[in-house]
Amino acid sequence: MAGRIAVPPMAEEGSRALIPLDFVRGLFNTIEKPLIVAERNGNLLLVNTGAEQFVESHGYAITPGLNLFKDLLKADTRKILEELEKGEHRLEHHFQIGGVKSTVLVQWMPGPDWLVVEIKSKSETQTGADPGTQLTVQELLQEREITYRNLLAAYLKLQEVNRQKTVFLASAAHELKTPLAVIKGYYDLLLAGSLGRLTDKQRDILEESKDSCERLVRLVSMFLNYSALESGKLVLQLRENDLRDCLDELSKRWVEAFQRKSVKLDASFDPSIPTFRFDYQKVQQAAANLLDNALKHTPSGGTVTLRAAPHFWERRVAALAPVEERRRFRLPRPNSVEVSVTDSGPGIAAEHHQEIFEDFVRVDRNTSGMGLGLAIAKRLIQAHRGKIWVESESRGSRFTFLLPMDQG
Ligand code: ADP
Repeated sequence: MAGRIAVPPMAEEGSRALIPLDFVRGLFNTIEKPLIVAERNGNLLLVNTGAEQFVESHGYAITPGLNLFKDLLKADTRKILEELEKGEHRLEHHFQIGGVKSTVLVQWMPGPDWLVVEIKSKSETQTGADPGTQLTVQELLQEREITYRNLLAAYLKLQEVNRQKTVFLASAAHELKTPLAVIKGYYDLLLAGSLGRLTDKQRDILEESKDSCERLVRLVSMFLNYSALESGKLVLQLRENDLRDCLDELSKRWVEAFQRKSVKLDASFDPSIPTFRFDYQKVQQAAANLLDNALKHTPSGGTVTLRAAPHFWERRVAALAPVEERRRFRLPRPNSVEVSVTDSGPGIAAEHHQEIFEDFVRVDRNTSGMGLGLAIAKRLIQAHRGKIWVESESRGSRFTFLLPMDQG
């Protein structure tokens, strides 16, 4: 009885919702009446504290694998089910537990095909309690509906607060853009010697300050990109473009930063990549985020390679025949391009390979960053119906993305 429980849809909600079982169990335990929920074959789904106490007070224990009909009610499953499926979907059943005569009210919920068993206390069976005061299945359903609505309201509220936070941070980041551009402009001016000769010491300090300023510019623009994506502003500008030009331009832009850190940037692109429709800026941005990370994590003297080559991408679709079958109908020509960035850095442990693509996830706290670079790259590539992943064993990482060439 672990994991999650599938709750059938309410009238206005189309899909089945999965609610954590612990949550349902907690809710169920707030009901005083001894209640058990079981599947039609007698498998126990939920047993509340009242029912557990009842069973224990008669010398039994609720153990895994216990069957409602066979072990507790000592009843013929088929007979009870037949009885329940006709008429009012409920029946009273008398049985003996620990030598004591007891009564249960069994109700069948046809929707989920569950049985709700209410154990009646002695006084109730003797005096015949007012059925109006009994907790009926109807009441249980109502309680569930209220919980649903409360959860939904809380979720919507959280979403709105989260949206406001993103908008606020985005406008703060936007305000930083102009002063940063001015500062960077002055660094360039000073370093070019336009405002007088610089000593070696002054030059070193200015270069370091300019590096920091550029890092800040990257962080701000990373955040602005993220908030634009978050607010649903991701619109692709699909045009017939040359991916080699796009990546070549990018690597030229990064050459200086690589030289400054003494890391070799080795870029080569397969000349057979045809032009195809993609969003030039967004693909460049995704590749830039990977290069940025590769440079950040590769120590001086290391190498980063940027590659692009045509690729046969056989998408796995459940309806298609198994791999061997599909191979016989091999694609006539490559339908995608594979772009990869490989570095000689420390690598990434396998347990982080998935989570590093999530928002604000950072594993290495010794480098600067907000944990957004890969999350943004993933969104940009997925918007092109592509995919992105990482491979990394003992040392070095290889980030790869696939871009389909048949963009609509
Ligand atoms: P940021 O770099 O801003 O922290 P990213 O989303 O780009 O955020 O990366 C998330 C995490 O993935 C980083 O904190 C880092 O730990 C890890 N990572 C990304 N790229 C590399 C790489 N090339 N080598 C080692 N670790 C990496």
